[in-house]
Amino acid sequence: MSNGILIFAEHRDGAFNKTSFEALAAAQQLGASLNQPVVAVVLSTDAALAQEIAGYDVSKVISVESPKLNEYTPDGYTDAMEQAVRALDPQYVIMPHTYLVRDYAPKLAARFGKGLISDCVRLTAEGGSEVVFSRRIFLGKIDADVVTDGESPVFATFQSGAFRGDQAKRGAGAVMESMPVEVGEIRMQPEPAFQEVKQAVDLTKANVIVAIGRGIKGEENIAQAQALAEALGGDLAASRPICDAGWLPIDRQIGSSGQTVAPKLYIALGISGAIQHLVGMKNSDTIVAVNKDPEAPIFDIADYGIVGDIFEVMPVLTEEVKKLKG
Ligand SMILES: Cc1cc2nc3c(=O)[nH]c(=O)nc-3n(C[C@H](O)[C@H](O)[C@H](O)COP(=O)(O)OP(=O)(O)OC[C@H]3O[C@@H](n4cnc5c(N)ncnc54)[C@H](O)[C@@H]3O)c2cc1C
Repeated sequence: MSNGILIFAEHRDGAFNKTSFEALAAAQQLGASLNQPVVAVVLSTDAALAQEIAGYDVSKVISVESPKLNEYTPDGYTDAMEQAVRALDPQYVIMPHTYLVRDYAPKLAARFGKGLISDCVRLTAEGGSEVVFSRRIFLGKIDADVVTDGESPVFATFQSGAFRGDQAKRGAGAVMESMPVEVGEIRMQPEPAFQEVKQAVDLTKANVIVAIGRGIKGEENIAQAQALAEALGGDLAASRPICDAGWLPIDRQIGSSGQTVAPKLYIALGISGAIQHLVGMKNSDTIVAVNKDPEAPIFDIADYGIVGDIFEVMPVLTEEVKKLKG
């Protein structure tokens, strides 16, 4: 009988993707609710990676090994993960909803004749038995609750920010095992990874984000927001109209058609708070909104709100932050 929760921990260049720890936190929650062990799977021979994840509260870390896994390819990862899932026979396979996972996970699930419950924002395990995965539909207007027929393995991915990576529980040092796998023909030649495109930025890793909206009025004013971001050691982001106008590149866009982020601090400057924007940032730890309209919907989710003109607020905030930092 299948048992346990398998979590796929994604890495690149010797480091785990931050969302891997969020998926780990999700897997731990599920494991605790169902009283089932959590096993982490890393597709790498890098012992340091296995060791890092073994420091978390998991029962085992499996390093799935093949020379064909040195570079990511959907063929390679699907073959390797298929063998790991067949060998470990888990009830649930939990993954972060990254570009890489989006690429290969549907194919993996199809090998088992299963669907993929993708981009989940929540999970509940009522009474320790029925597991409900919630995912946003219709551009975030409705949450759909998904239950499975109970047949394992169930494949699910979690949206960045759905769980807090820093809340993944640490453990006493899990058992580490390696699992050599036979990877078949690789039909594709990998191009440089998406985030390595010049100027591309992975805002999911940022601790502080200063985001601008249409209230910034003109491209020439962005430098003021940039100064605040720099003073805070943060990254600059934007609502869609700013990127549509070409004032910032598309990889700075937050929202349903941009990135989903969950930084410690999100400062929204002149952003109204349309649902398509909110779905991308509402899981931030602390949200500060500056808007001259006291009725702006962004204030509904803000922890701190300043009703005022961003052109008055930005320089003052920047100066105060600089003073604090000495
Ligand atoms: C299919 C689809 C996908 C979409 N995807 C996204 C997405 O991924 N991300 C996204 O952001 N949007 C997305 N949108 C667009 C979204 O619906 C909103 O139009 C957009 O988020 C609004 O951006 P905004 O808040 O910057 O602009 P506005 O809604 O125009 O708001 C500007 C705000 O600035 C305030 N303001 C103006 N001047 C000042 C000032 N001097 N000081 C202080 N405040 C000021 C105003 O009071 C207002 O609240 C999408 C829309 C669709 C249809």
